[in-house]
Amino acid sequence: MNPPAIKHELDIMFYVRFYQVLIGLLCLAAFFPPAHAQEEATPFYVVEVTAPSPEALHALVSMSLIVASVDKLTATLYLTEEEYRQVQAFGYTTRLVEVQPNPLFNEKASGYITYDELGSLLNGYADSYPHLCQVSSLGQSVKGRELWAIKITHNPDIPADKPVVKYVSTLHGDEPVGTMMCLDFAGELLAEYENDPYIQDLLDRTVVWLVPLANPDGYVLGMRVNGNGWDLNRSFPTYGLDYVDTWYDTGVLGDGGRQPEVAHLMRWHAAVPGALAANFHTGALVANYPYDNEPGIPSGVEAPSPDDDIFQYISLEYSSRNYPMYNSLAFPLGITNGSAWYSITGGMMDWNYRFLGCPEVTFELSGIKRPAPSYLPQLWMDNRDAMFAYVEAAHMGIRGLTRDRNSGAALWTKVSVADREQPVFSDPGFGNYHRLLLPGTYGLAFSTEGYITFFVDTVTVEEGSATRVDVTLSDGDLDDTGVVDAKDVQSVVDAVLGRSVSFDADVNGRGITATDIQAVINQIPVS
Ligand SMILES: [Zn+2]
Repeated sequence: MNPPAIKHELDIMFYVRFYQVLIGLLCLAAFFPPAHAQEEATPFYVVEVTAPSPEALHALVSMSLIVASVDKLTATLYLTEEEYRQVQAFGYTTRLVEVQPNPLFNEKASGYITYDELGSLLNGYADSYPHLCQVSSLGQSVKGRELWAIKITHNPDIPADKPVVKYVSTLHGDEPVGTMMCLDFAGELLAEYENDPYIQDLLDRTVVWLVPLANPDGYVLGMRVNGNGWDLNRSFPTYGLDYVDTWYDTGVLGDGGRQPEVAHLMRWHAAVPGALAANFHTGALVANYPYDNEPGIPSGVEAPSPDDDIFQYISLEYSSRNYPMYNSLAFPLGITNGSAWYSITGGMMDWNYRFLGCPEVTFELSGIKRPAPSYLPQLWMDNRDAMFAYVEAAHMGIRGLTRDRNSGAALWTKVSVADREQPVFSDPGFGNYHRLLLPGTYGLAFSTEGYITFFVDTVTVEEGSATRVDVTLSDGDLDDTGVVDAKDVQSVVDAVLGRSVSFDADVNGRGITATDIQAVINQIPVS
């Protein structure tokens, strides 16, 4: 035997091995229902699985297994006993990290805040700082624990024209770092409001919502999944499967039949429209931005959203202030498109952005899932400035109020940017909208059911604070008699002819032209 023959034999061995693995994967896919479909909490094997090739890795992570992270050819999977046995049988290199629930795990001894302490701490804040925060529960977990939320802003009980920024942590119960970062953040905002002019200014113009512990049942047991054995960040509606249009367009939230924690988060996201959001995890160190999944694009391939420029910018706003994240060897500048890393379906991030129009990024804060508590002060140092800068990012772009032209009532309005597929929506209660955009010139369209679409064709966005564009929409009833009729049409005709009229006849925002006449005619009820 000469060396080339050995090489050839190795090549054949490699391909035989590779196809064995692929066939094995296909058998696995056919054999098992989706891992999250089980109703009873069963033990999960946390396993590092190394694939023989990038193709085999992408085949592995594209299956209905819980993939928690990917690093080169190694994926961290959460497997049932049966799945674990199969993966081993198919010849993957596996390393068992932990079995969950781990009988050795002790919430108190972990050194992190306990679920009970969390409730006491937040409710203590509500008592101490009533002018700065409100504490509520979004609802209860499978096992009846509260999903605590804290709203922090100056005068939290008074509706105001302020962007809402949301941090949600620990959808995965074994990833507790973000919980602590949220608490450090809340503590500083509340304690320093009176002393720190920057924090005072920030809370005077921003609403910060924190949900520090979205999966309390998993947290108490040191488990990724919730009390029913479901991975919550794989259990939100999936684009292309569960929905295609937005909530605004369909009016169907889709929370029925979801895991309780997911349903609570969905209702809260819908009821409290966010200008910007993030969710915290551990297991890697990177800012992961949409899309996590786009139908037709395989895992490992970039799936950019229409706001890719904005997502890269806001991800860098975070990563560039987090020194270890920014200097990542795995991810240039500490950021990645979700699908380019590995694709997931049922994540909160894509759903919040695509369905509700709220840009969201997933921040992975530590390669070690549950670092020793002695690292927490350093982790806070790494994330503090990043968390402030990310909140500040909600103030860039275009903002304003959308109101009824006659009554001044707030409107729930779809705000579309020309050449950008993804709309945002105003807050139905106050009418304010916040459209994140980088410096440039944009065209906007404002549409509300029953109203004439209003255009603002040239808006310049500059560095820093958002450009303000307040609009009033007309339902065609110019003279406010309660009905759109010939008199309203006549008013617009008069205006087009240059006669003086007592009403604002530019109903579509593009100057007074014949299109305004047509727009008002279109509003006349068909009898
Ligand atoms: Zn996670």
